[in-house]
Amino acid sequence: MRNEGLIVILSAPSGCGKDTVFNKICRLRGDCVESVSATTRSPRRGEENGVNYYFKTKSEFEQMIADNQLLEYACYNGFYYGTPIDGVKRAVSKGLVCFLIIEVQGAEKVMEMLPDAVSIFLLPPSRDDLYKRLSSRGTDSPEMIEKRMSIADFELAHADSYKYQVVNDDLDKAVSEINEIIDNELQKRSK
Ligand code: 5GP
Repeated sequence: MRNEGLIVILSAPSGCGKDTVFNKICRLRGDCVESVSATTRSPRRGEENGVNYYFKTKSEFEQMIADNQLLEYACYNGFYYGTPIDGVKRAVSKGLVCFLIIEVQGAEKVMEMLPDAVSIFLLPPSRDDLYKRLSSRGTDSPEMIEKRMSIADFELAHADSYKYQVVNDDLDKAVSEINEIIDNELQKRSK
């Protein structure tokens, strides 16, 4: 196993399929893990503390900030989200590819702090397609869909600050593109 791992920042608007893409990459390669973030939002059905997120109160989260336990944090949709440093350090020291699946403000902070991190923005084929995907999930009210679209517009405007942009038009194609990016980046580092 490699001594030095790789940090991969993956961002995408809600509805672009970033979790599906990540799960497929994990099955394809044996060396990927996802950093478990801390958040102040409530767990959704089926989510487990310590698995999907570390669910924190606002004051617990602010204590984590004060204690410098977070690599980055941001406010998204009225809640705090942040990446605990320890988990990332552990993964990287084991030579693993550690995915930070985070929103754009936090992602840009990590890019600045860790220029060696690989940043990938997953794009929908089009804005219309994203709207259709969000509507067809049937989980959100029309107001929530509008809100997600306005957050998506903000996020899409930041896609160019990422090193790589991958369009999730065809799932297998997007997964194989990201797989290739990781292989190339690992190869560069081993030289
Ligand atoms: P959700 O509430 O749907 O799980 O996540 C909302 C957004 O927060 C998503 O874009 C997700 O990628 C992002 N997010 C999750 N964890 C973190 C984190 O640790 N830091 C930042 N900056 N964003 C995060």
